[in-house]
Amino acid sequence: MKKILPIFLTALILSPLLAFVSCEDCDAETPSAVSYELAVAVDDAENKVSIDQTVTVTNTFAEKTDELVFAFYPDAFTLKTPPPIDSVMMSQAYPHGINAGSYAFLQAGGDDVKSVSLCASPCKIVAKLSSPLKRGQTAKVRFSFDLILPLCNARYGYNDFSINLTFFFPQLCRYDEKDGGFLFYGYEETGDPFAFDCADYRLTLDCPNDWQVACSADEITRDIGKRVYTGSSLRDLSLFLCPDAQVTEVTEDGYTVCILHDGTRAQVAEYAANAFSLFSDSFCELPAKRQYLVFTPFMTAGAEYCNVAVLSDALSFADTEKTVVHEIAHQWWYSLVGSDQVSAPWQDEALAQWSTLLYFEKRGMKSYADALKKSWQDCCDDYVENMRSLGEIPSLDVFRSTTDYRDPTDYFATVYCKAALATDLAADSITHDGFCKALSFYAKKHFLSFADENALFSSLDDYEQGAGNLLKSALSVSPYRADSE
Ligand SMILES: [Zn+2]
Repeated sequence: MKKILPIFLTALILSPLLAFVSCEDCDAETPSAVSYELAVAVDDAENKVSIDQTVTVTNTFAEKTDELVFAFYPDAFTLKTPPPIDSVMMSQAYPHGINAGSYAFLQAGGDDVKSVSLCASPCKIVAKLSSPLKRGQTAKVRFSFDLILPLCNARYGYNDFSINLTFFFPQLCRYDEKDGGFLFYGYEETGDPFAFDCADYRLTLDCPNDWQVACSADEITRDIGKRVYTGSSLRDLSLFLCPDAQVTEVTEDGYTVCILHDGTRAQVAEYAANAFSLFSDSFCELPAKRQYLVFTPFMTAGAEYCNVAVLSDALSFADTEKTVVHEIAHQWWYSLVGSDQVSAPWQDEALAQWSTLLYFEKRGMKSYADALKKSWQDCCDDYVENMRSLGEIPSLDVFRSTTDYRDPTDYFATVYCKAALATDLAADSITHDGFCKALSFYAKKHFLSFADENALFSSLDDYEQGAGNLLKSALSVSPYRADSE
């Protein structure tokens, strides 16, 4: 028997508020608390990348701190511990066999640093400071290190089309006063195990002049073999280096979308540009007007980074548009408004899924949007039936962190399907235009900042009292309650 999400929630009648959030304060030029200077040199023959890094941290987060905690993703690929890839994805991630990456630190420290512990526990770097860093004070930490990249189709590594460098240097963990310190997350295999504050970047990249490069920051100069990039308030600094890529560029409504591909994906440019334009009108403008899509051998359908999305070059024609649009939506729900992708993975994913529905509806393809919703409902149903056939109780509890999911199917059914359907239910109740306005409040209020689940609910309430609770209820209620009672 098919089950449906509880439609009684749609019966709630809500009263609009005259809430208004201006974006005059949305300023990407205010210096971030953290800035990185990176000099990156690529040795293609050796699959080696050499990096000099200076990170400057101004204490804006605590009365004082004795240490700075960094996360270092390359350590997750050394095979000292299992790589951050679910076992069912291993053959897509390592089609040429599982192999280890490695790294060597040549220097770690600086005048402000007493000692540095390099990955004594996996992926964690702790710099003990020479003296406590009081609020308003600044400390610098320097790292110099070489990476030997693994051969794989993951976020970090190289394949025959691209060198994927994401989260490839020590990155300062978020400081959370409530949790009493730096939030270090081990790089889990499920979902997107990243939650960082925006920072400023200056990158010098030494790679062959004829390579195509997708970078989160703006290229400001290029000499032979050396390119310089800068960016303020970037959620991350990701680099995809493609020696032989073709480039297709299209500009619409001020956004230039640049697609790096093998020559078969030029047609994506048009609807990708439409998606940027449509979301910009619906939510708010992005600070960066140059955006990249990179089609490469990749272990999943796609993944989002600041101003860059990576997509699998094996995506079918039928799956490409919805995947591209979903990843583009993450420029609002991940990059512009950060959320904790480890403890609340549904938050950016459900909004990206709902934005995808919005795109198809606004482009006159409502029947396709309906078909997508039906596929999400079927996915939930199938998961529940399968669990029951195994004698297990399916949870589909949205409010779990990535570490609490049973497997990728549980994660997909809950985060991408159930949470997206619940979001659509809430949107139906206040009209889709109303939901867009509420999301616009949310985007402007938390512009280049970080928002927890309650911040999303409260932005919905700013638009219409009760809307936040409606979404919370829709997310909380099991669509299968009647059956389990
Ligand atoms: Zn996503």
